[in-house]
Amino acid sequence: AEEMLQKTEKLSMVGELAAGIAHEIRNPLTTIKGFVQLMGESKQEDYFTETILGEIERINFIVNEFMVFAKPHDVLFSECNLSVLLQDLISFLKPEALLKNVTISQHLPKEHVTISGEKHQLKQVFLNLIKNAIEALPNGGNVTLTMETTREEVIISIIDNGIGLSSDQLQRIGEPFFTTKASGNGLGLMVSYKIIQNHSGHITVKSEPNKGTTFSVKFSRVT
Ligand code: ADP
Ligand code: MG
Repeated sequence: AEEMLQKTEKLSMVGELAAGIAHEIRNPLTTIKGFVQLMGESKQEDYFTETILGEIERINFIVNEFMVFAKPHDVLFSECNLSVLLQDLISFLKPEALLKNVTISQHLPKEHVTISGEKHQLKQVFLNLIKNAIEALPNGGNVTLTMETTREEVIISIIDNGIGLSSDQLQRIGEPFFTTKASGNGLGLMVSYKIIQNHSGHITVKSEPNKGTTFSVKFSRVT
């Protein structure tokens, strides 16, 4: 009976997901339709073209994010150097963070740490988590990355001293389209959870409102 219940729950989740996607795809399509209609009657083509391209980009983004769910079998795992991956991401994000008065510090082991995985997907996960940490610091602050290793495991933590999450929000993160941001899409964590699940890893969250948040990602090093 318990298993039945779980399956029903999963099915209704897939239904909700499909409804959410349909809704999100309909919004940009409505804009596109309106602008194409107006284009026939107006001379403001540049603005319209820009808006249309922007909306097409939005559809593309949403559909791409969901590919992680659609095609988990096509993913090829290889040896991924987590140290280099994180270092590259930090270098990439530092300038943008500094503009927002956010410093990024790191405590990574000197020796390189590798796991079996898909590099682009793993990059996407840590990009999402670090960006969320930066966005949790509207008045600036610090984001710290740590990596702890044992023979069997590696744990990477992204720590911010930002706005934190209420227990209500903690319950809801990872749900498709759950966002508290004006220009958020609520897909980053959903996709990140799915990718980490595909890597047989775990994500844990500790958070306190107005104190900060720690996201930890744990991988097995034994293959
Ligand atoms: P988005 O960033 O587009 O809102 P995400 O799936 O990445 O979507 O995150 C969902 C929500 O989780 C965010 O809107 C925010 O409320 C919350 N959240 C995620 N990371 C943090 C963090 N480090 N600190 C505070 N809140 C966070
Ligand atoms: Mg995000």
